[in-house]
Amino acid sequence: MTAKKVDEIVKVTNLKKYFEVERDIIQKLSSKTKRYVKAVDGVSFSIKRGEVFGLVGESGSGKTTTGRLIINIIQPTEGEILFDGIDLTTLSKGEMKKIRKRMQVIFQDPYASLNPRMKIGKALIQPLEIHRIGTPGERKDMALRLLEHVGLTPPEIIYTKYPHQLSGGQRQRVVIARALILHPEFVLADEPIAMADVSMRVLLLELMMKLKEEFNLTYLFITHDLATAKYVCDMIAIMYLGKIVEIGKLKDVFKNPLHPYTKALLSAIPIPDPEHKRKIEIPKGEIPNPINPPSGCRFHPRCPYKMDICEKEEPPLKIIDEEHSVACHLFD
Ligand code: SF4
Repeated sequence: MTAKKVDEIVKVTNLKKYFEVERDIIQKLSSKTKRYVKAVDGVSFSIKRGEVFGLVGESGSGKTTTGRLIINIIQPTEGEILFDGIDLTTLSKGEMKKIRKRMQVIFQDPYASLNPRMKIGKALIQPLEIHRIGTPGERKDMALRLLEHVGLTPPEIIYTKYPHQLSGGQRQRVVIARALILHPEFVLADEPIAMADVSMRVLLLELMMKLKEEFNLTYLFITHDLATAKYVCDMIAIMYLGKIVEIGKLKDVFKNPLHPYTKALLSAIPIPDPEHKRKIEIPKGEIPNPINPPSGCRFHPRCPYKMDICEKEEPPLKIIDEEHSVACHLFD
């Protein structure tokens, strides 16, 4: 009997990842206390099967670390990660290997993701070899079919090429094909179009959405760009300095953004209409140092609506409407 699949393919609760800051010899001798980068600091959310869940934020917000924790490339400092109801933090290496087949990654840089000395065909069949799936002939057939599926034709020629013999867009298609060769259920797409030419970006997003339907996929889509998130996501969570500050259905967050940071990000999306003038609310200053984050609300040094309480108390994530939540004292 097969186990009943849960509706939420991923559920994380109070997830934390602190990286210890390296100390030089003098700091060690002077026994300065250890310091930590709080890359992810207590995030909770769930991803429903079949949805595209966007994790959006500036660089340093903790979105990539959150993605890597979920697919178990790195271990959390604290918190629970459920994948299809199974707690990944408690699995042995062998048990994790079986689950890993069901979750794959598309990284930002296709050139770095592919071994420059390995032909495309070999790169594609390698996951099948590791998991002992099919005969050599069957593996080659699967790879050729998938190359064609992602628009790389003629597949027999692409199969024999090295990564440097392909264009950037073709390489990203290979990375997508390799992520799908094991027929995963869940794909972490970490800035999957950031390195592609502008002209290729929409085509790659369309391809990913087509494959989502054909392969019954769930995506965790990580991006710094709300305009890209708008194109593909069903749900989005906005991250700032290791925390989720707003989360909700994409349409609700775009129609009614609640957090001042979300409003600022939205106001920075260009509008393709020269007549339309919009007040740009870019937050002042840089994202603060995560080793020593601001007290209270971490956004307070950049927030135009800051109140006294904001420096003192951290606002909890509060449900405002259905699945729409925000962490801001304006909604206390
Ligand atoms: Fe701004 Fe205060 Fe809300 Fe933080 S809690 S976003 S500082 S108003």
